[in-house]
Amino acid sequence: MDFKLSEEHQMIKDMCRKFADQVLKPKATEYNKQHKFPAKAIQQLGEMGIMGVVYPEEYNGAGMDYISYAIAVEELSRGGASTGVTVSAHNSLCLSPIYYFGTEEQKKKYLPKLCSGEHIGCFGITEPGAGSDASGTATRAERKNGKWVLNGTKSFITNGGVASVAVVMAKTSKDAGHKGLSMFIVEKGTPGFSVGKIEDKMGILSSSTTELVFEDCEIPEENLLGKEGQGFKIAMHTLDGGRVGIAAQAVGISQAAMEEAIAYAKIRKQFDKSISEFQAIQWMIADMATDIEAARLLTYQAADMMNSGDRQKYSKYCAIAKLFASEASHRVTHKALQIFGGYGYTTEYPMERYCRDARITEIYEGTSEIMRLVISANMLK
Ligand SMILES: Cc1cc2nc3c(=O)[nH]c(=O)nc-3n(C[C@H](O)[C@H](O)[C@H](O)COP(=O)(O)OP(=O)(O)OC[C@H]3O[C@@H](n4cnc5c(N)ncnc54)[C@H](O)[C@@H]3O)c2cc1C
Repeated sequence: MDFKLSEEHQMIKDMCRKFADQVLKPKATEYNKQHKFPAKAIQQLGEMGIMGVVYPEEYNGAGMDYISYAIAVEELSRGGASTGVTVSAHNSLCLSPIYYFGTEEQKKKYLPKLCSGEHIGCFGITEPGAGSDASGTATRAERKNGKWVLNGTKSFITNGGVASVAVVMAKTSKDAGHKGLSMFIVEKGTPGFSVGKIEDKMGILSSSTTELVFEDCEIPEENLLGKEGQGFKIAMHTLDGGRVGIAAQAVGISQAAMEEAIAYAKIRKQFDKSISEFQAIQWMIADMATDIEAARLLTYQAADMMNSGDRQKYSKYCAIAKLFASEASHRVTHKALQIFGGYGYTTEYPMERYCRDARITEIYEGTSEIMRLVISANMLK
């Protein structure tokens, strides 16, 4: 067991940290206030190999491992959580199902432009009536004249408004339960496919979150991803891995909040002392550091297990990492804001943004309650 980062991991950490400090952080507050998507930064990240971190070079990917991926999302989220989730949803939720379940033709057609960042991807399973329970999926896909015809609405889709490629789940059989769900690839511009409502969110305000609407949307038969009836399996495989990205996002937000709280505690004076001299503040810093170290180790451990490719093993660890890192980010960002006192509550400082951004990590890609279900089911089997 070696807790030191390898040369490759250190290199991606330094590269993404520099990018976060120079490109993301200076613009994060302004972009969030304007709800502006960081399109140029995403294009640059594509050129840096970050839009296809773990995918082979033959598809334009960077061919790195899942620890590299976790480090990249963590460091980018430290600079801007919206960029962090954009990268995470793209890599983990859109590219992953195409790579693991796609035919060679599908991989060759979609992955190169997704890995280079020329195209952005999204993944849609959530619907108004199907959140934690994906079996409530109402979007239908019917086979007609050698095509699939999709009808329905997906909600809360990350990258929905900016994606060229959407991987979406739909019902292909009425009575087969989970086995009646299938996964499809839908391209932007397909007649009958449109972006619906833009979600007015609490946080990650410069990420795109929208509805996807399908109205008699005809797609070629070959856009079925995996086999008919495999949709639920693909969704669970995809989300298991995606959780490492969200855990990493939570660690990055926590790290940013702690660093700024420490810097502020050293310069803010009350009672003729720097507030960092008060034990109450020191203990908050100690608790933040402990939470972050534990969350980071759990995240890297889950990523390392993903490198083995054995989902039976890594599923539990991904859920543990996401559960702990997201709830830790809640604790850390609240303590960091507390250290800023009243200033932390204003938009002059990013602490209130960190609290809002951290909150979503306890909800998407499976809520904390669903993480506890996944973990306990693994412990009790
Ligand atoms: C900003 C944002 C981005 C998102 N991005 C995507 C995306 O890219 N793609 C996508 O498909 N979805 C996306 N989602 C959807 C997200 O994954 C869901 O919101 C989430 O899974 C919860 O579903 P729900 O909101 O319908 O809540 P519900 O499932 O209705 O849950 C409500 C509450 O009940 C609890 N609950 C539900 N079932 C159980 C149970 N069995 N035991 C205990 N408690 C339970 C939940 O934990 C929660 O507290 C996004 C959501 C947001 C807000």
